[in-house]
Amino acid sequence: MGAERPQRYCDGCSEVDDHPRHIIGVANHPSQDRSPEQWHLDCHAAHGCDSCAARLAGASGRTGAELMAHFAEQRVGDHG
Ligand SMILES: [Zn+2]
Ligand SMILES: [Zn+2]
Repeated sequence: MGAERPQRYCDGCSEVDDHPRHIIGVANHPSQDRSPEQWHLDCHAAHGCDSCAARLAGASGRTGAELMAHFAEQRVGDHG
């Protein structure tokens, strides 16, 4: 395994782990007084995010650790 990944909270399911996230920073959030959001790709896709749905579609429905391994193979990480 490579470098240690940060443990992060998920705004969707409230789990804390190092799985891939869609991170929505304050800078590109529609409301300036919101704190940044970080979602599992599958949680965010279920919440209606087209971007996460597209990434999951490209990963053949993997989630969690399998999704992380898949992205590591492809050398892509979190998006946001
Ligand atoms: Zn989640
Ligand atoms: Zn998303």
